[in-house]
Amino acid sequence: MLTTGPRGTRDILPDSSGYWQYVESIIREVCQNFAYQEIRTPIFEHTELFLRGIGETTDIVEKEMYTFTDRGKRNITLRPENTAAVVRSYLENKLYAGPQPTKLYYIGPMFRYDRPQAGRYRQFHQFGVEAIGAQGPAIDAEIISLAVELLNRLGLNDLKLLINSVGCPVCRPVYRTKLQEFFRDKVSQLCTDCQSRYDRNPMRILDCKNETCIEYSQGAPHMVDCLCEVCSSHFTGLKELLSAAGINFIINPRLVRGLDYYTKTAFEIQYAPLGAQSAVCGGGRYDGLIEECGGQPTPGIGFAIGIERVLLALEKQELLPPLNTAIDVFVAPLGIELQAVAFQILTEIRRANITADMDYINRSLKAQMKYANKYPAKFVALIGQDELVQNKVMLKNMETGSQELINRAELVHMIIEGMEK
Ligand code: ATP
Ligand code: MG
Repeated sequence: MLTTGPRGTRDILPDSSGYWQYVESIIREVCQNFAYQEIRTPIFEHTELFLRGIGETTDIVEKEMYTFTDRGKRNITLRPENTAAVVRSYLENKLYAGPQPTKLYYIGPMFRYDRPQAGRYRQFHQFGVEAIGAQGPAIDAEIISLAVELLNRLGLNDLKLLINSVGCPVCRPVYRTKLQEFFRDKVSQLCTDCQSRYDRNPMRILDCKNETCIEYSQGAPHMVDCLCEVCSSHFTGLKELLSAAGINFIINPRLVRGLDYYTKTAFEIQYAPLGAQSAVCGGGRYDGLIEECGGQPTPGIGFAIGIERVLLALEKQELLPPLNTAIDVFVAPLGIELQAVAFQILTEIRRANITADMDYINRSLKAQMKYANKYPAKFVALIGQDELVQNKVMLKNMETGSQELINRAELVHMIIEGMEK
């Protein structure tokens, strides 16, 4: 127990945390280019927020949340996604009072009681963006283009962008009835989940991964054929904008969000080489959500990308950059009695913003040189008794093998000069 983490959790170790930093740096760069600003909300929220903001009939709320009562008897949930929390923060902090739309992004851990497997964990990380306060399809196109640009910039090119429209409270009830009519004589053949979805949330039958349900839903009516005037022109607008930006897409009528406050655009980006867990990005419009959370009716759209899945894809395609563990200087005291002066020199070097380390376990000279080479270190500063008496340091260039006796006062200057070569 003490030496094993909970099922579905993973440690990000030093040999791969650099890859996370790399992906995060590209995320921040793209968000900067698109003028989205970071928001950091708490890891836990009132359970009520997710019940309302994600919906009681979703997998997440029905079976995946980490929920507990805290010592003050509050009902708390570790966030399983972040849109609801961003909307809560938008309302609580009156972000609507600023210039609109409010364009936000976040990076952080999410928690779901999922079945752990490659690309599926119980603590995982999402990068997401939310644009709140703009109604037209142009912001939808911007959001989609941000996701595509990020994945492209990371080197992932064979992406499949699936789009759909899930309509709005005007046209969806009509579609819902049509769908129920279609499934009426098939209900008993569907999986038990879908049998309960039939009444509560029939659109989600289209989303079921069960083979039989997929088969029985062949020929089901499509939402895109039942859109009202407003939703239809929004969808046309989006398709035009994506085409104008040279972004390829496929219309997928099975892409649904069965909740009332999800409206119009729904999209997903798949990266096929990932196999079973090929969805890297899911998103869509949620024009009813802000009102559901207690705000004025306000349109919004966003997506979330699974960072573990992106990293898996990058690893698979050998797109991860080499990690650099090199240091500039290794300070090598030739004996424990020289440790204090070595530490003093190390401190001076680091204060000059130079990357440096020293021996802390009293290695022999030979072992210190070996250790320095492992980084690798560009220079080794040898601190010996003889040199010290003369107030000098022996600076060895590990690349050329040449060494030079240098006045201590000039050491930092010489290192900087040597680094530039
Ligand atoms: P799935 O159908 O794979 O469970 P989902 O519909 O639950 O996906 P979303 O809620 O749309 O996924 O989350 C957006 C993205 O977050 C997914 O496309 C995926 O990349 C990632 N993701 C979701 N759940 C997990 C998980 N348990 N572990 C790792 N990544 C996940
Ligand atoms: Mg899921």
